[in-house]
Amino acid sequence: MPGPVTFLGAADTPCCGEPTFRAQFIPNVTVNGIPVSCQTHLNTPHRWIGAACKAPHTAPIALGSTRVRVMGLGLGRMFDPTVACAWVAQGIPNVIDHSL
Ligand SMILES: [Zn+2]
Repeated sequence: MPGPVTFLGAADTPCCGEPTFRAQFIPNVTVNGIPVSCQTHLNTPHRWIGAACKAPHTAPIALGSTRVRVMGLGLGRMFDPTVACAWVAQGIPNVIDHSL
């Protein structure tokens, strides 16, 4: 989804009430001095209190930018989905990727 660029430490939506944050990043590409988080990058460990799995797990950004690539990975944006359980909930408000 087009949106503000996400970064190391940014919040994802809570997964069944468990807070989770962007944990993986590109160290040498920053926005406002903070490393960016991209497609395939994981969030912090959290529980998924769903039917299949109650164990702590992490989830990657499922689909990032289709136009802006960082080290070959789609740039992560607020509103991008993670695999299975959440969405990216926070981005840098003054750095926007408008592509799909
Ligand atoms: Zn989860």
